[in-house]
Amino acid sequence: MTVEFVNLKRQFAAIEPDVRAAIDEVLASQAFIQGPLAASFAEAFGALLGASQAIGCSNGTSALSVALEALGVGAGDEVITVANTFIATAEAICHVGASPVFVDIDPATHTLDPALVERAITPQTRAIIPVHLYGAPADMASLLAIADRHGLVVIEDAAQAHLAEYRGQKAGTLGHAGTFSFYPGKNLGAFGDAGAMIFRDPLVADKARRLIDHGRLSKYEHSIIGYNHRMDGLQAAILKAKLPYLPQWTAHRRAAAARYHQSLAQAGFRMPQTVEGGLSAYHLLVVEVSNREETLEALRQAGIGCGVHYPVPLHRQPAFADLPTVSLPVTERLSSRVMSLPLCGSITDEEIETVCTAFKSVARP
Ligand SMILES: *Cc1c(COP(=O)(O)O)cnc(C)c1O
Repeated sequence: MTVEFVNLKRQFAAIEPDVRAAIDEVLASQAFIQGPLAASFAEAFGALLGASQAIGCSNGTSALSVALEALGVGAGDEVITVANTFIATAEAICHVGASPVFVDIDPATHTLDPALVERAITPQTRAIIPVHLYGAPADMASLLAIADRHGLVVIEDAAQAHLAEYRGQKAGTLGHAGTFSFYPGKNLGAFGDAGAMIFRDPLVADKARRLIDHGRLSKYEHSIIGYNHRMDGLQAAILKAKLPYLPQWTAHRRAAAARYHQSLAQAGFRMPQTVEGGLSAYHLLVVEVSNREETLEALRQAGIGCGVHYPVPLHRQPAFADLPTVSLPVTERLSSRVMSLPLCGSITDEEIETVCTAFKSVARP
């Protein structure tokens, strides 16, 4: 039996009529850029998160850079974040002319270690971007307290954390801004690129809204120099059709993760823990192994999709070679040990059993 890493075909088969009807609606209206569907998706997504409003945009990377710019982060500023993330987190910081400052992670949760953040703050520091890695929230209470003490803004990179929670509040709604990706493989995926932003301050939200649409106040009135980072009308319609399924897919992910955890913890494997007060959305099912290459190869031979998130931490990437050297021992150790097993909103118990059996026959803790 082969097991796909993320079974998007199975998801599509379950919702095909809804999605096709949504696409037909766009074709009939010919409203391909923003339009009423983009507004209506953003409103529904914001409501699901308990936010006063959400703003749809072109992707999760532009969501981060626009959030930074809307919050006034720019040239000469430093932004504290992690190195065990997708490159977009740090790219966005560079896109606004600021510099990423990589800080090490907590070995239990794999998220930004608040105890180390305070030491990395300089007079240039303007913002902190915690990543809710693998769908699990970072230690937001500690990070928000540090930010308050030092007058910094917190932007949550919630690209992997749709419907994750921290002390009963949805991830992405706790900081000054929260950003989301709807890349096809994310927990809520478009049929192309799309993203969203959430802001605490309505005036900052208004600036972000203008930034993604050429600084527009009206069709030919441009208040600031902006970008074309709008959400595509087709993606908005597809996301709106998929959104009602997100809670059940998330519940399914949580149940699947619990099943994995039981089987793998019994065999002595370590998995990232969720911070106290947190509820993960389980974007990825990550486990630590000491023989990763061998395990990946054996699982691939067995027809089981797997991956590594992330094999090269950002401070080791050639793209960031010009940044000052930093020592991130926990990030480095975990980046050499983590691997990700199949998980999605439609994985079956039988598939999980197959994966666990194959994994335990080769992997070593
Ligand atoms: C996917 C992802 C992004 C970027 O989102 P895109 O929509 O692909 O631009 C940013 N940060 C993290 C943590 C991600 O996983």
